[in-house]
Amino acid sequence: MVYIYSPCLKVNEKGHLSISDCDTIDLAQQYGTPLYVMSEDEIRRVCRSYVESFQEFYGGNGRPIYASKAFCCKEMCRIVSSEGLDIEVVSGGELYTALKAGISGANIHFQGNNKSTAELEFALENNVGDIVVDNFSELEQLGKIAAEKEKVALISLRVKPGIDAHTHEFIRTGQIDSKFGLDLASGEAFQAAKHSLELPGVKLIGLHCHIGSQIMEKLPFVHAAEVMLNLYNQIKQELGVELDHLNLGGGFGIHYTEKDDFIPYHEYMKAVSAVIHEKCTELGLSLPKIYIEPGRSIVGESGITLYTVGNIREILQVRNYVAIDGGMFENPRYALYQSDYTCLIANKAAQPAAYTATIAGKCCESGDLIQEHTLIQPPEEGDILAVLSTGAYNYSMASNYNRNLRPPCIMVSHGQSRVIIKGETYEDLLRNDI
Ligand SMILES: *Cc1c(COP(=O)(O)O)cnc(C)c1O
Repeated sequence: MVYIYSPCLKVNEKGHLSISDCDTIDLAQQYGTPLYVMSEDEIRRVCRSYVESFQEFYGGNGRPIYASKAFCCKEMCRIVSSEGLDIEVVSGGELYTALKAGISGANIHFQGNNKSTAELEFALENNVGDIVVDNFSELEQLGKIAAEKEKVALISLRVKPGIDAHTHEFIRTGQIDSKFGLDLASGEAFQAAKHSLELPGVKLIGLHCHIGSQIMEKLPFVHAAEVMLNLYNQIKQELGVELDHLNLGGGFGIHYTEKDDFIPYHEYMKAVSAVIHEKCTELGLSLPKIYIEPGRSIVGESGITLYTVGNIREILQVRNYVAIDGGMFENPRYALYQSDYTCLIANKAAQPAAYTATIAGKCCESGDLIQEHTLIQPPEEGDILAVLSTGAYNYSMASNYNRNLRPPCIMVSHGQSRVIIKGETYEDLLRNDI
């Protein structure tokens, strides 16, 4: 049997994979394939575990912010918002989506390393909770735009804290090679804070950092909290400004395969909270509000993608290609960076995974693969293949390459299903063609 880790997934009495008590074979029949399936129950469970960790370890002084780039649509914004999370956006399009979902500007945080003038204006007009300023030129530009509009933009500064973490490893360095943020070690971040006080159009309220993605350990977050608090303290001591919050970013890991092993999410908050309490006492600071920005970990394990198996091409001594009716246009992550996934034949989920397959998409690219040399149950044409942990960075990264249609997305909860994003039609493809 294939290792199944997400609590919303089970193998039912028919030996089929089920998600939130919906049989995936029934879903594939009802809605067609390819199909994105998201478990609302699991999304809400994870949201609650984050919110509860703030209550338990930090007196509720702060909150998680959902990094919507992981999976952005109106229903997702409504669900996370109803669980008490704010929403982070990185483009005018994500901002527009959140606003149209009914999220108040005050609960939206605007990020990005090269926001356009139009995007900055859009964010200002809608009074977002803060604009996270990435660099000096943006600081200048925003100051000017806000002054022209006779508004004051609430801003945070994106800081490169000198900690770079990915999966199991992290480094502490003076210089991070990154296109994001203001450098801490050289004093650039402090200078930006100082300069912001000279601009009447902006009000500095917080500091932000984001140290990586798919991080499995708590130590990098603890170090990040420490160095960010030092800057927070320096701003108080030298500039006389006590800020409102520290945003420690996202990047919490999820299971893609059996190999992924990490601590439960509340352990991060526990460890970060301890170090913040300790340091604030030492420095004589009142506790700042803390934000974290999980994206992948909110939705990643809640989502699966269903496909119909097409032709099977067994090339002796080389590999077995199992073709599916999707591919890099709806999940480009393997093509982009060889991401791991667990795959299984959903209608044979109880059987041993004894067949080594390379899952191939239908795009005209040899690199259009979903996974290589992965163990699945022996496949036959017409089987339903499930790829697990596709909730994050799949739909949001989808394209119309080869004029393929983006698949529909359905939400399941307690045995019920509903469409939350309609599948595209050929007419949709021509919408903007002249
Ligand atoms: C991408 C991103 C996140 C979310 O990262 P995950 O790995 O999905 O948790 C949070 N904050 C910022 C600034 C990001 O760019």
